[in-house]
Amino acid sequence: SIQQYGEGQLANRGANPAILRLAVPVPLRRLFDYLPPEGADPAALAPGQRLWVPFGGRKLVAVLVDIVAESPLAELKPALELIDRQPLFDGAGRDFLQWAADYYQAPAGELYAAALPVALRKGKPADHWAEQWLQLTTEGKGLPETALARAPKQQALLQLLLQKGPNSRTQLKALKHSLPVIRALADRGLVEWVAGPTVPPPLPDAEPTPPPALNDEQRQVLEAIDAERFSVSLLEGTTGSGKTEVYLRLMERVLAMGRQALLLVPEIGLTPQTLRRIAARFPERSIAALHSGLADGERAQAWLAAAAGQADIVIGTRSAIFTPLPRLGAVIVDEEHDGSFKQQDGVRYSARDLAAVLGRNAGVPVLLGTATPSLESLHNALSGRYRHLRLRNRAGDARPPEISVVPTLGQQLDEGFAPQSLRHIGETLQRGEQVLVFINRRGYAPALACDDCGWLADCPHCSSKLTMHRRQRHLRCHHCDYRRPLVNSCPQCHSRALSALGGGTERSEELLAQRFADYPVIRVDRDTTASKRALDRLLAPARDGEPCLLLGTQMLAKGHHLPRVTLVVIQDADGGLFSADFRAPERTGQLLEQVAGRAGRGDLAGRVLVQSRYPEHPLLQLLLEKGYGAFARQLLRDRTVAQLPPLRAMALVRAECEEPRWAEEFLQTARAQMEALAPPSPELAYLGPVPALLERKSGRFRFYVQVTAEKRGVLLPLLARLCQWAEGNRNRRLRWAVDMDAQEL
Ligand code: ADP
Ligand code: ZN
Ligand code: ZN
Repeated sequence: SIQQYGEGQLANRGANPAILRLAVPVPLRRLFDYLPPEGADPAALAPGQRLWVPFGGRKLVAVLVDIVAESPLAELKPALELIDRQPLFDGAGRDFLQWAADYYQAPAGELYAAALPVALRKGKPADHWAEQWLQLTTEGKGLPETALARAPKQQALLQLLLQKGPNSRTQLKALKHSLPVIRALADRGLVEWVAGPTVPPPLPDAEPTPPPALNDEQRQVLEAIDAERFSVSLLEGTTGSGKTEVYLRLMERVLAMGRQALLLVPEIGLTPQTLRRIAARFPERSIAALHSGLADGERAQAWLAAAAGQADIVIGTRSAIFTPLPRLGAVIVDEEHDGSFKQQDGVRYSARDLAAVLGRNAGVPVLLGTATPSLESLHNALSGRYRHLRLRNRAGDARPPEISVVPTLGQQLDEGFAPQSLRHIGETLQRGEQVLVFINRRGYAPALACDDCGWLADCPHCSSKLTMHRRQRHLRCHHCDYRRPLVNSCPQCHSRALSALGGGTERSEELLAQRFADYPVIRVDRDTTASKRALDRLLAPARDGEPCLLLGTQMLAKGHHLPRVTLVVIQDADGGLFSADFRAPERTGQLLEQVAGRAGRGDLAGRVLVQSRYPEHPLLQLLLEKGYGAFARQLLRDRTVAQLPPLRAMALVRAECEEPRWAEEFLQTARAQMEALAPPSPELAYLGPVPALLERKSGRFRFYVQVTAEKRGVLLPLLARLCQWAEGNRNRRLRWAVDMDAQEL
């Protein structure tokens, strides 16, 4: 039987007070009590360690959260085996995870699992990655400064250990301290080797670069941030205004205080280019990069170094927020508006929002930077909850680009391009400059249709069309990845008159390669760049500065410094302005502004052409004439009127099932349960169940109930009670979830 905390009678434990309260990775919102493993030394147990435990006939890796004297359960099973000698999570790390579990209604065990890199989640001992560290002995520490003046190499090593503390074997090798020198000191009893975590060595090919002198705006921003105490600042600065330079300076400051800096970047943002820039500024610092491109072992190593306080700078995507950092000194979130900070399945959390909590707990500054603030952060800044810092000018000599609309209605378009746009592309290339064309769809065409009977290639599992990929010769669903070979004739009426509808990156590439045959055309989308390194390689010719055409999806919108791009063409600005998702205009505005920001980052002036069927659309007008700042403030006013986030707190209760009726019925009951606890009122509103925007995905029908409240405090206990009820759901084919601060409808 499963041992649960929170039910049954109190048992008298008598002489043995040690009961282990564990976070077990199962979808239940409670902790579980176990006895220590048989024969385990009670003194060896400490919260934060992992243990193997028996659970429902399986063997799972659990994390020790607490050691208590009494359990409400009479019969407890012993845990099987202690995995760690040292705790992986310190007290602050555990408190933070508990806070997140409470706020997002997540099972603590699943959250701990999400916090751990895969190899550690599977139970691999941390010692597996131990490395040898050289440290001073007591005698070494007490040595007078001049004692080794006659042996300068030994003296240098001793100085290093005195100033920086223990150094790993890898570090010493990188710093060119030779083994004979180490041995000489060891023989005299001044230094010794001890086992410790592996630290990622300084990154290769990082040419140390001196920092530029700060401009006035950057200086003011940095002066406004107190490194000694907690605050959240929104740094709103146009692309190229020097935000990254501000991050680097803040890091420098906390590193000098002996602290660790955490930098969160969007999934697309962690490019080798970004890493090189940071490594070049801090060539002697240990940098741990946590991202999905790493092998399991590398990732575990980097995580352990961060958690042991060995890594000075930790750079990572979303889940890096859960890495316990014992010397945390600052949290920086780059491109804070980016959707990838929100996990959309499993444990649904926002790393951007959690950054503020982490900073508050640790009493350190939090910096959220972007050219295009999310409405959430902008609202917090305008209402005074966050500090609002601005960088209004581009750093260096770059000027803001000139933006104009190209009306497409009634124009003779060539694969989606207006004649005016093609003319500008040609002229720019002839001047020896580079062009970036932004298209928001990959593939050749978003649909394939029969001209005779009207057949459309649908995905059999989703409510969506199959995208045609001509080069790979297949039709593919971009929601569930279903594929089928490309057909030459209509499966319904056998006509051979099939048309590819709409445009995609592949199709545009074909046209541009034909029209501008003298220049390389580089296509950047998920199909051409399986890895970050591939992207880096693909962009190498563009960085060399030769005239070329870059063509791609939003992967191109971020993080790439391409100084020779002087023309940006946005093929279609309209899609997001007419969506049923209330967040779509915000996302469109961010994307357009970010793409436009790629123009003219060097010393050449930039120009942006935005193609639109509706050049008069008021939101588009506002965006293009007044910029994203004014556009976002208008959207905030609209959200206020509509009583939508961020003016209201919003959570979705989601359910999905192959049988749509079951999902709907489940949600009807869920809503009735919540209404019984908290009836609708001006402060609390319910909507649904309604179908999700993508109603069917991977064969399951998806619905949600939307709950909005004036205060988050009303939602949390309500959702907690709902989860207790929903955990009793015995229909295994129905999946449900609570999505606090949901980003997708
Ligand atoms: P952002 O992160 O806002 O896009 P960056 O920090 O990448 O901006 O700066 C854009 C460019 O300007 C980079 O090439 C950077 O080296 C340069 N830069 C930043 N700050 C300064 C400064 N104070 N003086 C001169 N150049 C600067
Ligand atoms: Zn047909
Ligand atoms: Zn599909």
